[in-house]
Amino acid sequence: MDPVTDSLDEVHRRLSGLRDGAVADYIPELAGADPDDFGIALVSMAGHSYRAGTTDKPFTLQSVSKPFVYALALSDLGVDEVLRRVGVEPSGDAFNAISLESGTGRPANPMINAGAIATTALVRAGSAEERFRRILDRLSAFAGRTLDVDEAVHASEAATGDRNRALAYLMRSAGSLRADPEETADTYFRQCAVRVTAADLAVMAATLADGGRNPVTGVQVVAEPDAVRTLAVMATCGMYDAAGRWMLDVGLPAKSGVSGGLIAAGPARFGVAVYSPPLDASGNPVRGVAALGVLSERFGLHIMHRPGLRAATVTGAERLAYDGRDIGLVTAQGVLEFTEFEALVHAVREVTPTVPGRVVLDLTAVTEVLPGPAAGMAAVLDDLAERGHRAAVAAQEPFVRADAGRPRTWEVFRTRQEALAWCASG
Ligand code: GLN
Repeated sequence: MDPVTDSLDEVHRRLSGLRDGAVADYIPELAGADPDDFGIALVSMAGHSYRAGTTDKPFTLQSVSKPFVYALALSDLGVDEVLRRVGVEPSGDAFNAISLESGTGRPANPMINAGAIATTALVRAGSAEERFRRILDRLSAFAGRTLDVDEAVHASEAATGDRNRALAYLMRSAGSLRADPEETADTYFRQCAVRVTAADLAVMAATLADGGRNPVTGVQVVAEPDAVRTLAVMATCGMYDAAGRWMLDVGLPAKSGVSGGLIAAGPARFGVAVYSPPLDASGNPVRGVAALGVLSERFGLHIMHRPGLRAATVTGAERLAYDGRDIGLVTAQGVLEFTEFEALVHAVREVTPTVPGRVVLDLTAVTEVLPGPAAGMAAVLDDLAERGHRAAVAAQEPFVRADAGRPRTWEVFRTRQEALAWCASG
């Protein structure tokens, strides 16, 4: 039993029935995607991973490759040189728009196709082969495993991608693309055809969230300032012409792709990914947008949400002897949002004695518990009781309530002493 997974499962169940949107078919090979595939994966900064639904099925990165290749170009050339070649202003246009600065031909930002194609050409290499190999190696480091190319999707886009080739030629004629347009478009098609799962994408997003360090492998994939810059551009441009509404509703740096992938990153907190092929009119995955909306609200994930409050919340996790009894005690303070809740659940697991044991949650210094964490904590306490433990909560307010219609399986006290004494008495 794990309440983070339960939350993802619940969102997954709730949104599985959402039938809006259409699978992209302008790349013929993508048209065969199963519109019912739907997976949500999340990776914390401790490298813990949580999944619901279809998270092991491979699909191609498409535009979700863009931020990672941008991060690579930043580490190769430095921000000043990259800025000279690709802007960072939201274009307010569709992903495949011809959005070039008049005069210079500089593309508006690296998250639309024009900017992504120009960015691919910036990756340092002596040949097109070497350039793609470096891109694939770096994408693999972000994912923490060796990725490969879906050759059928690559061939399909190469055969039909005239608009992207046209963008490359336009930039070449305007002077903003110095490399060969055919070769550059092909390298871009290849990076779009790199195969991942939703579980991989969550690790990749978590790596950006953790300042460029892959929280699963521990490898520093890009320097911290470049990870931060990449997240900044994702925040303003990652969702194409829906980026403003996305920032208003969900409030996380994000990137979507036409195959149905969507990543979002909570800086210093988590990476999350959704896979669901049907897209809305802006080219963003319908269920992905809906799922992140629900998760953001439930766990207070919006980056503008009380940004100053990030003090340690779980302040103690110990096993103590009280009246000759072995009791697991977890102490927390402040506001319980997603990160704190995830840490709290781990702490409870660590200190729980063998069955039948005793567990006390000291929340007397907690000032607020968001709805997602509150429900998750009730589930943790129910689970302890079901397994034969005696559990008590000490809190100033009834933060953790039983679900309507269910009996409460734990005792509530005002002070830690009372909670410990009750636990030890039975
Ligand atoms: N390979 C796709 C294209 O260039 C990627 C677009 C996307 O995912 N939005 O058309």
